[in-house]
Amino acid sequence: IDADTKEAWEKYPKPLEVIEGPLMDGMNIVGDLFGAGKMFLPQVVKSARVMKQSVAWLNPYIEAEKVEGEKKGKILMATVKGDVHDIGKNIVGVVLGCNGYDIVDLGVMVPCEKILDTAIAEEVDIIGLSGLITPSLDEMVYVAKQMQERGMTLPLMIGGATTSKAHTAVKVEPQYQNDAVIYVSDASRSVGVVTKLLSKEHRQGLIDETREEYIKVRERLAKRQPKAAKISYAESIELGFKDDWDNYVPPVPNKLGQVIFDDYPITNLLPYIDWTPFFISWGLAGKYPKILQDEVVGEAARDLFDNANDLMQKMIDEKLIVAKGVFKLMPARRTGADTVTVYDKAPTEGGTAEYQFEHLRQQSDKASGKPNFSLADFISPSEAHTDYLGGFTVSIVGTEALAEKYKAAGDDYNAIMVQALSDRLAEAFAEHLHELIRKEYWGYQPTESLSNDEMIKEKYVGIRPAPGYPACPEHTEKGKLFDWLGTVDAIGTRLTESYAMWPASSVSGFYYSHPNSEYFNVGKISTDQLESYAERKGWDMKTAEKWLNPNL
Ligand code: SAH
Repeated sequence: IDADTKEAWEKYPKPLEVIEGPLMDGMNIVGDLFGAGKMFLPQVVKSARVMKQSVAWLNPYIEAEKVEGEKKGKILMATVKGDVHDIGKNIVGVVLGCNGYDIVDLGVMVPCEKILDTAIAEEVDIIGLSGLITPSLDEMVYVAKQMQERGMTLPLMIGGATTSKAHTAVKVEPQYQNDAVIYVSDASRSVGVVTKLLSKEHRQGLIDETREEYIKVRERLAKRQPKAAKISYAESIELGFKDDWDNYVPPVPNKLGQVIFDDYPITNLLPYIDWTPFFISWGLAGKYPKILQDEVVGEAARDLFDNANDLMQKMIDEKLIVAKGVFKLMPARRTGADTVTVYDKAPTEGGTAEYQFEHLRQQSDKASGKPNFSLADFISPSEAHTDYLGGFTVSIVGTEALAEKYKAAGDDYNAIMVQALSDRLAEAFAEHLHELIRKEYWGYQPTESLSNDEMIKEKYVGIRPAPGYPACPEHTEKGKLFDWLGTVDAIGTRLTESYAMWPASSVSGFYYSHPNSEYFNVGKISTDQLESYAERKGWDMKTAEKWLNPNL
């Protein structure tokens, strides 16, 4: 370095000063504005990317002094065993990260032992658990129990789609008394909770406050009259939906048997995307397309939408992801009050039973006079006319690897974007395939012409209920559905031990053609139905209670 260069070099701030000065200051401002509701999640995640990439760029110029920064605390984040939900956890991680917390992200499907061992080895200050599907609720309870058993003394944060303050208060908190258990409803609240938990001054206040609140939640829930299960299971069967089955002629599919899509054109799926949930996953509430003009979030929404479309184009052009699907339409008959049997050939022509799907029935006392629905009601029991049932799985393949690549490059923004877009594409594929089923493969609505908006509003004839959702909330039937469809061999999509689908951007369900079939919520069931279900599934009561827990 000559004298002039040296002089110029001296004039500028050193890399470490840049990081600890303007960059950190910038992130603090972003954090404050986010806290004050003046900046939104996508902008925070994008700012964090600037920070991360600047640090990565400057690091080689920092010789002796490594950027340690002053870490305010270390937080372990994990999606529990059996679950694959990643987006919400990643967002919380980024938000905490740009507030100066060190994040140890163990990813998805993390067994309890690994979570706790890592927490101890890494000397973390807080454990954060995430989950999307109902079986994860039990796994979180298990983790809490194990923390108690091991005598750990760390706060436990609970978050994710099916978690709730009620579940945390009733099921998780009583298991772990050594330290705080706190339900965190969304990413923006995580900073406040973590800050307080790690502050000498505010920690005890938050713990006491939360304990008291959860005691009240438990008391309130214990006092609440059970509002469901007002009629007996036998009575609810009597009050089920009935058609004039002797005179109902079910539509015959144009194409029976298994159909596989190995590489479905993604451009065909774009018109079927429901964008509203995309904005929700980024913490922007409002209906698409109106949200783009929203006075408060419009600017952030437009920028996000532009970035999303650019990345989508790149994923399509460079074939970074692949859409795969499998479906089947087969003869079926209702063979019990809540049982649907599928056959290899029409039972009227000597077909053999292949699988029996067990369903649950609403037991609420309905003032509306509506039937007490079960999905079995929409399949004909007639021995004169054969009915049909469909099933499907669609997946976006390649998402995880691509997101991992972005993450490794310090680009959490695009990592999360890839996951959010793949989720949208999987739902769009489900919507599009359902339309093809109605118009062509089953062909019971050949002249249907619905807009995307009408499809999102479920204006179509027939339904595609998904196991794990309100009309068929019990997840293990998904295993049977996958076996019946041959999903694993056909497209490689698998189920975890909690029946989450992997790859994560997957949708599966049944197809029903009956004109009166509709989506409904099974709701709470009583012991008589639980016993019947256990018997039909060949389960002991304990197993039945575990899987039907959300409906008890
Ligand atoms: N357009 C939305 C779809 C939301 S989920 C999106 O892109 O995210 C809609 C799907 O969930 C339905 O097609 C159906 O497969 C399933 N579903 C909705 N309500 C249901 C219910 N009550 N029981 C079972 N499955 C249901």
